Amino acid sequence: MEKNILVVGGAGYIGSHVVKLLGENDYNILILDNLSTGNKEAITYGELIVGELADGNLLDKIFTDYNIEAVMHFAGSIVVPESVEKPLEYYENNTANALFLLQKCREHNILNFIFSSTAAVYGEGLSREVKEDDPVNPINPYGRSKLMVEWMLEDLSNAWNDFNYITLRYFNVAGADPDGKIGQSSPICTHLIKRAALTALGEIDELQIFGTDYDTSDGTCIRDYIHVTDLAQAHLDALAYLVKENKSHVLNCGYGVGHSVKEVVATMKEVSGVDFKSTPAARRAGDPPFLMSNPEKIKNLLSWGPKYDSLKFMVESALNWEKHLQQR
Ligand code: UDP
Repeated sequence: MEKNILVVGGAGYIGSHVVKLLGENDYNILILDNLSTGNKEAITYGELIVGELADGNLLDKIFTDYNIEAVMHFAGSIVVPESVEKPLEYYENNTANALFLLQKCREHNILNFIFSSTAAVYGEGLSREVKEDDPVNPINPYGRSKLMVEWMLEDLSNAWNDFNYITLRYFNVAGADPDGKIGQSSPICTHLIKRAALTALGEIDELQIFGTDYDTSDGTCIRDYIHVTDLAQAHLDALAYLVKENKSHVLNCGYGVGHSVKEVVATMKEVSGVDFKSTPAARRAGDPPFLMSNPEKIKNLLSWGPKYDSLKFMVESALNWEKHLQQR
């Protein structure tokens, strides 16, 4: 039987970019997605199975009918304020469903697992670039729901020698496929670059800048933005590493370069040519002033090198994607 990569949540923003790169690199791909936030049009390669992750019979069937070389697990809820309001939904969707998937991997002897985690596991209080072995201290249910899965993976790989995983801790993912075929279409949109693009296109009246009195260079929060296609490439590199080296790791995914909210807004204004309204507003609860990665480990271990690490390119590709959505 030919080998397949099972991409759970492959119809979503990041999953769909990974599917595209896997397809371009001739992998056989199987996608499991319930299409709650993802959509069919985002799938450019592979076979889609629409179904729930919690459906044990479905997982049994997938793992029996196909030869799955590795599982990539993207499916999850990602909106921090929503996680504060609905913590149990986050623990169910992000933690309990991942536990269930891992149980099925154990039953069916699936040996390679790539997990989408987040910089939100680090929490607040670090004023320098974080390393993977820095203390974790998530400050919201979203970060906690992901960290618990990181721990499950660690414990499982300790107990089961043949099993290996790579946890990728995403920093601020932004932008869209350089070919313009896919992008971020999620219904709830809280992310800065997407909101700035929507404001430039007149879909949002004004962009609020959440907090202008932080102790940073220009008073606004600093983030480590990473282009989604570079992040997707990190998954392919992680997959190649896992299959060859059979070793587990936790890796930061960022460029280690910080941009302030004001800088992002100015870049969107420049790229779009629209001087849209941007207004100082109160701080948003739970925002750390500074969140940046130290990306040395991923660069050394996977020989991963960014291709799209310019703020202008990230902003431009995000804007082009929103224009494309408007015209559809
Ligand atoms: N932000 C903002 N206005 C917006 C959306 C976000 O000022 O409309 C700020 C937010 O407070 C944070 C930064 O932009 O300081 C990045 O937020 P985003 O939601 O994109 O990502 P997060 O870092 O929360 O994962």
